Amino acid sequence: MEKILVTSALPYANGPLHIGHVAGAYLPADIFVRFQKLLENDVIYICGTDEHGAPISIKAESEGVSPRDVVDKYHQSIKESFRGLEIEFDNFSGTARPEHHKISQSFFLNLLKKGFITKKTTKQWFDQKLGRFLSDRYIEGICPYCGSEGARGDQCDNCGKLIDALKLKNPISKISGDTPIIKETTHWYLDLPKFEKELREWLETKKYWKDNVRNFIFGWLNEGLIDRAITRDIDWGIPVPVENAEGKVLYVWFDAPIGYISSTMEWAKNIGDPDRWKDYWLDKNTKLIHFLGKDNIPFHTIIWPSMLMEQDDPYVLPHDVPANEYLNLEGQKMSTSRNWTVWVNDYLKYFDGELLRYVLAVNAPETKDSDFNWKDFQTRINSELNNILGNLANRTFVFSEKYFSGSIKKPDHLSEISQDNLNKANELVDQIHESYIKYQVRRVVKLIMDIARLGNKYFDETQPWVTIKNDPELAEETLYVCSELLRIISIAFSPIMPRSMKVLRQMMKLPDKLAWKNLGVQMEKISLNNVKPLFRKIEDKEIEEQIRILKQKQIEEEKGVEHKPEIEFDEFLKLELRIVEIVAAEKILKSNKLLKLKIRLNGESRTVVAGIAASYEPKEIIGKKVVMVMNLKPRRVMGVESQAMILAAHN
Ligand SMILES: [Zn+2]
Repeated sequence: MEKILVTSALPYANGPLHIGHVAGAYLPADIFVRFQKLLENDVIYICGTDEHGAPISIKAESEGVSPRDVVDKYHQSIKESFRGLEIEFDNFSGTARPEHHKISQSFFLNLLKKGFITKKTTKQWFDQKLGRFLSDRYIEGICPYCGSEGARGDQCDNCGKLIDALKLKNPISKISGDTPIIKETTHWYLDLPKFEKELREWLETKKYWKDNVRNFIFGWLNEGLIDRAITRDIDWGIPVPVENAEGKVLYVWFDAPIGYISSTMEWAKNIGDPDRWKDYWLDKNTKLIHFLGKDNIPFHTIIWPSMLMEQDDPYVLPHDVPANEYLNLEGQKMSTSRNWTVWVNDYLKYFDGELLRYVLAVNAPETKDSDFNWKDFQTRINSELNNILGNLANRTFVFSEKYFSGSIKKPDHLSEISQDNLNKANELVDQIHESYIKYQVRRVVKLIMDIARLGNKYFDETQPWVTIKNDPELAEETLYVCSELLRIISIAFSPIMPRSMKVLRQMMKLPDKLAWKNLGVQMEKISLNNVKPLFRKIEDKEIEEQIRILKQKQIEEEKGVEHKPEIEFDEFLKLELRIVEIVAAEKILKSNKLLKLKIRLNGESRTVVAGIAASYEPKEIIGKKVVMVMNLKPRRVMGVESQAMILAAHN
């Protein structure tokens, strides 16, 4: 029996789960784990939410709640999405829990003690408007490597390279929109160059890793490793466990993978065997497999193994890191900031989670980016699941009920064509086994549909609707062989479609408990029970509705640039625009929005009421020079006469 520890990259608890996440890191892992359980291997599947970092504290601030509230809300939401998709973990924890803090700090201290962590004072981007250092992901600019715009301070989504934030060109603060300045701060760094030799030797043994993963890693190694800062200046996270480190926390990328260990510890505790986690993490025979999207490759293949190598306890290193590429939506890159995605909780309001499992398995981005689109979703469900597999089950069972009262016995002898079809199915089963092991889920689905296609072709060729009239035993043989094919599918397909395969088995009164080794054990007789269609068809109008929802989201996103009718130049010339100085500013009592300004233009002074109190404090704008419309008719606002109008724009 093999011992396997499977993890999926921890989903970040600052938003709900979307189908891109599911396709990359969770569904492939869940399928693999279910397959290993079928093989009766000793496997556990560990995950949890990643609950630290600047995005969470900033979201909390903007919503006027605590970071804990944000984390709890999305932890719950993500968990429900997984439940709806039947993605089942042995443990699903969270990194804000005390046990996780403790072990993360001990990882840090161990590396520090052994000289793998150094302390340096460096320069960092600082947002003067907010009075805070900007963590890398709150800086955006032009990638120094590929020149693409919108690269974050930590990584470029376009070329995938990790970036030194200070090298980003034309940086802006993503929070305030200001151009940040560079200021000094002290941080702790993981001395990656010290690990390079050992890492390279270890990675050289991973010839069986997926090509996309190996290419990425060696491209990265060959550029030479550099020190990576593993602490940050924010207030939400795991405190750096040394003296004089107030306001410093561990970088989420340092603590998140340790979450795999703390979640396993929590699992061990929950099953009443607190040391059990060691059986997995501290045993060289454990196959540790990390499922993730391609953006997580460097952290799991370079930084994380380095952290594990130098601990006092002999941690097992990753056995495999089957990273996936990206899933696009309707031909465009998914983007949560542009709301161009399908959120799982939205999806589940309309459709069964298993249908998504099927479509994401068929379209799995295993070797290159793939696409999810609603028309394809409908076609896959209707013409594959329904018309091939659903049809085989339906025609076999309906016919059996009609002519044999739902009771079919195994024939004493099988004709050549029947035996031939069962043999072919068994060959396909061997290929399915191999494909599951190689994480080739797309191929698994194709091979399973091949078994169903085989069954339909055999049903057509043996014509039970003809044989029933003069040779009922021959008709019964057809039904037996088709039921056998369905039984094989009900086991082999169960890692991908657990619920409907359970239904299929219940219709044939087969035991719930599944094992791969039972694939070769034929049924002696079949007595049908509660026969119903396995899947439902998706109507055109349901798909039209989803496409309408997507389009609506895009319209909402673009609302900010709704334009007004054009005007003539002459009309524009009527405006008297002047640069004036603000010499005094105060809040207007009883108003959250209005400031009363005194402005000066040469010798002239005027009073202006401006609706900018939500964005500016009076003291920040005194002395500023701004553009005013000077010839707008005076107007009384809250009892004050406003004698000009300030020009302002969003962002
Ligand atoms: Zn780039």
